[in-house]
Amino acid sequence: MSRLKIVAGNWKMNKDFEEGLSLASEIISMVETEAPSGVQTILFPPFVHLHALASLAKGKQAIHVGGQDCSMHPSGAYTGEIAASMLRSAGASHVLVGHSERRQYHGERSSDGAAKIQQALSAGLTPIYCVGETKEERLGGAFEEVIAAQLQEGLGNLNEVQMGQVVIAYEPVWAIGTGLTASPEQAQEVHAMIRGWLRNHFSAHVANHTSILYGGSVNAGNAAALFAMEDIDGGLVGGASLKSRDFTDIVKANR
Ligand code: PEP
Repeated sequence: MSRLKIVAGNWKMNKDFEEGLSLASEIISMVETEAPSGVQTILFPPFVHLHALASLAKGKQAIHVGGQDCSMHPSGAYTGEIAASMLRSAGASHVLVGHSERRQYHGERSSDGAAKIQQALSAGLTPIYCVGETKEERLGGAFEEVIAAQLQEGLGNLNEVQMGQVVIAYEPVWAIGTGLTASPEQAQEVHAMIRGWLRNHFSAHVANHTSILYGGSVNAGNAAALFAMEDIDGGLVGGASLKSRDFTDIVKANR
C-alpha cells in the first residue's frame, strides 16, 4: 500500500531566530542531497521563524514548514493566538493540532482539536492530529479506549474528503521527551488500531491512504526499526530534530 512517508521535526520552543535559520539551512541541504526520494520532510519551528524558513524551503519539493499550533477561531480579538490562515499566508503548509504539550499545559481538549482542524482545512493547511495515552492510562490497560475517544472527538465530525487531508501522529505521552520509546511492536499495535478505527468510521480507502506517524523519543538509532513496521509511515520528532545530522539520519531511515 503506497502511503506518503513523512518525517516531521517539532522544534518546540527552541532556537532563536539566527540559530533557527542556520539549523534549517543545514537540514535542507543535507536532506536534499541525502534523503531518499518520496519522503516528505516538515519543519515545525517557533512561529516567528516560519516565514523565513518557508523562504528557505521555497521550490524544494520535499521540504515543507508548518506551525506548532493554530487558533480555533478564524480571526478576531484573541490576543496571542495565530489563525490558520495567517500560517498559510506566512508560507506554512502544515499545522500540528492537539500535541500533548498543548493538552498538558494549555488544557486543550480533543474537541478544541476538532475546531482547529476545521480552521486548518479551511485555510488549506494539512493538520497533523496528535493522539496518545499517558503512562497511567497505559498501565491501566484502557489506553486503546483513550485513543479511540481522542480520534472520535477530534476527527469524528469530518467527512471522508476532509479526513483524506489529515495526517495522524500517535505519540504516547510517556515517551515524549523522556528517552523512553515505544517498542516497534507496541507502536505497531496502536497504529493498526488507529487504521482500524479509520476503516470503521470512514472507509478502507481512507484507512489505507492516511499517513500515521509515530512520535516519542525517536532518534537516529531507533527510527529504522519503527519505520519498518507495516502501519508506521514516519515520525514526529522532537529533541532529535534539533540536530541536523541526527534529523537527516532519521529522514534517511524512512525508506
Ligand atoms: C514531540 O515533541 O512530538 C516529540 C515526540 O518529542 P521527542 O522526540 O523529544 O520525544
